[in-house]
Amino acid sequence: MEKIDRQKPIEVSPEIRIKSFEEVSKGFTKELALIEAQRCLNCKNAPCVKGCPVSVNIPDFIKEITNGNMEAAVKSIKKNNNLPSICGRVCPQELQCESMCIRGKIDKPVAIGALERYVGDSALNMEQKHEEVERIGKKVAVIGSGPAGLSCAADLAKQGVEVTIYEAFHKAGGVLVYGIPEFRLPKKLVQKEIDNLLKLGVKIELNTVIGKTIKIEELLDNFDAVFIGSGAGLPMFLNIEGENLNGVFSANEYLTRVNLMGAYKENSKTPIMRGKEVIVVGAGNVAMDAARTARRLGANVKLVYRRTEAEMPARKEEIEHAKQEGIELNLLTNPSKINGENGYVTSITCIKMELGEKDASGRQSPVAIENSEFDIPCDMVIVSVGTSPNPLLTSSYSALKTKGRGTIIVNEEDLETTVPRVYAGGDAVTGAATVIKAMGAGKIASKSIMKLFEKQA
Ligand code: FAD
Ligand code: SF4
Repeated sequence: MEKIDRQKPIEVSPEIRIKSFEEVSKGFTKELALIEAQRCLNCKNAPCVKGCPVSVNIPDFIKEITNGNMEAAVKSIKKNNNLPSICGRVCPQELQCESMCIRGKIDKPVAIGALERYVGDSALNMEQKHEEVERIGKKVAVIGSGPAGLSCAADLAKQGVEVTIYEAFHKAGGVLVYGIPEFRLPKKLVQKEIDNLLKLGVKIELNTVIGKTIKIEELLDNFDAVFIGSGAGLPMFLNIEGENLNGVFSANEYLTRVNLMGAYKENSKTPIMRGKEVIVVGAGNVAMDAARTARRLGANVKLVYRRTEAEMPARKEEIEHAKQEGIELNLLTNPSKINGENGYVTSITCIKMELGEKDASGRQSPVAIENSEFDIPCDMVIVSVGTSPNPLLTSSYSALKTKGRGTIIVNEEDLETTVPRVYAGGDAVTGAATVIKAMGAGKIASKSIMKLFEKQA
């Protein structure tokens, strides 16, 4: 086997990128993609495919890159994944396909994510050929235009179903547009994917809150089936003293102002607080995005997390990027109080932690060290400790049953809810998870809906 090092996508240097919202990773050039594709061993049983939540035929699309047949590579990925340029950028490949890659046992896994992005971007630059699909006389309403809704809508539209997506915000895309920042996922790319969906005949009704503007009962009267992909957009808080002071934000509000409302742009009318000393509480992808956004808006940023770096749930790549950009990690540290003067934040009191016994999840629980409190001066705090589904939709229709923190109960096989003809998937069912899992759920639901129509025929 030829010794070829794993290729690295081109990146903008930290000094330059902290001054702009330009995308950090520029991906592979054609030359780099070809070299990296040659590292694939084209394994017979391809364990990488088992690591992909939507079972993309990875060796097949990589083989087409080496053949120089990009149309075939695009076709191969798109059989299972409607949004490859997005997944190539944001999927945690290191925990999925790449973690199973045989090449990883020899030297380093094939850079499957970067190759997927390369193919996805090529697809966006190709002229899209949409074959006319005969309509089958069925109508489906999709609630929410995030990855779950988009994926379900695309699969149904390709099979001749008339699909209308209802979206609460004034822009379609869910977290892809309101949460994940421009420097990780350029919005024009998400828009291109949405334009492709429109070309398939899907209608999108923006500024429409289901449960308020239109009731689920009305959708059931006017459509043959309904898919709920309304996400988990309700932020959780720390419930500590001082959380209502001016200068304390949820990461969701902060990122929505910056991303969806473009508050970072010079001519934006959306106000955004530009703190000088910002504390971000949390350590997931959302916390990393908030921290790196605040850094780009000119702040010194400190991240506060109660466990160690090994337990940080964010993608390794994002943690590395954050550190390169000068974000300080305050680990084994837990906030206990936010302090202020005249209604504004002035500091945060934290307590030092140590790892104790393993909890039910198998992770060591953080335990507070007595008398170890200390203050960190700051003028802004961004809380990023998780989200749950917004109860607005489910509380408007009592037959739709939920559990725990408001996640919708479904039959795990076909994703049907407790209401016949109503299906659900993505974060609304699982709680905050990943783009690819949400897309996978949209796919499963579209298959179940098609089966329902077959039964009705
Ligand atoms: P969403 O993307 O949340 O979309 C739901 C949509 O439904 C929203 O547009 C919402 O406005 C709309 N909606 C809600 N209620 C209603 C209603 N009543 N009527 C009409 N519309 C409604 N995952 C990764 O895999 N990799 C990452 O790097 C990553 N980074 C992330 C960074 C941030 C800042 C955030 C917040 C999440 C991140 N995630 C990441 C998680 C991922 O984005 C989500 O798991 C995924 O978007 C869930 O998709 P969804 O379609 O279920 O919901
Ligand atoms: Fe290629 Fe790795 Fe998949 Fe084998 S496991 S087919 S080397 S990507």
